[in-house]
Amino acid sequence: MPELPEVQTVLDTLESRIRDLEIVDIKILYKPIVEEKEKTFKQKLIGQHFRDFKRRGKYLLFEMDDITLVSHLRMEGKYFILDESVPLSKHDHVIFYLSDGKQLRYNDVRKFGRMELIEKSDSYDDFKDLGPEPFSKDFSVAYCRNELSRRKLPIKSILLDQSFVAGIGNIYADEILFAIRIHPLTPGNCLDEEDMKRLIKQTRQILKRAIKAGGTTIRSYTSSLGVTGRFQLSLSVHTMEKCPLCDSKITKIAVGGRGTYFCEKCQVLKS
Ligand SMILES: [Zn+2]
Repeated sequence: MPELPEVQTVLDTLESRIRDLEIVDIKILYKPIVEEKEKTFKQKLIGQHFRDFKRRGKYLLFEMDDITLVSHLRMEGKYFILDESVPLSKHDHVIFYLSDGKQLRYNDVRKFGRMELIEKSDSYDDFKDLGPEPFSKDFSVAYCRNELSRRKLPIKSILLDQSFVAGIGNIYADEILFAIRIHPLTPGNCLDEEDMKRLIKQTRQILKRAIKAGGTTIRSYTSSLGVTGRFQLSLSVHTMEKCPLCDSKITKIAVGGRGTYFCEKCQVLKS
């Protein structure tokens, strides 16, 4: 599942490749990906240009001239920018024909991804339940104190809850908790103010580093790149064998059904 850094990488890459290009035609090969009726979707998008590229949580927002296309990659969604001569894959579901002759293809093996059009002024329903962006000043100690004081779930589950903070998934939740030396099963309301400060700081640092790594990897691809947003990450605990600090074996448990990696020696279980 792409997390915030992967989504940001996809966005940045697309921005560098298709900014200001016009959509001259659209083909929808698997209709459930698109929320609108096919006719409406085409009518509203054909003739529009990709003007701006924004992100909210794990949602991509393509701001066109008069409308915004919202795209969620869910499990396996990917974008490819390809020449029309490249044969379609059976997992290409939506094709945008661009004014430079290339195609932007939405590819999704699992078909869980979704696209929807919103008016620029709209407050999109899906965004109402999203917590603050990790880089925004709304993600503050005061905010965390207020939110965590009434949450008794394990901190790992809280980090995955998009209503607490937007964009964090399973990989980075493990990495953040390792960085702040907190055991993933620690109840949210057991974090003290110092923990919250470090949580905010490390969340930003880790995401920033991952975005940078993504950019670096993407730039090293060839021009026929698939904009997958998957790249080699330097991880400390997630799917790792040994703790980089103390050399102990990394423990794997399930928290809220999600595979969770941590070091029993370095991460404190607070209660
Ligand atoms: Zn350790």
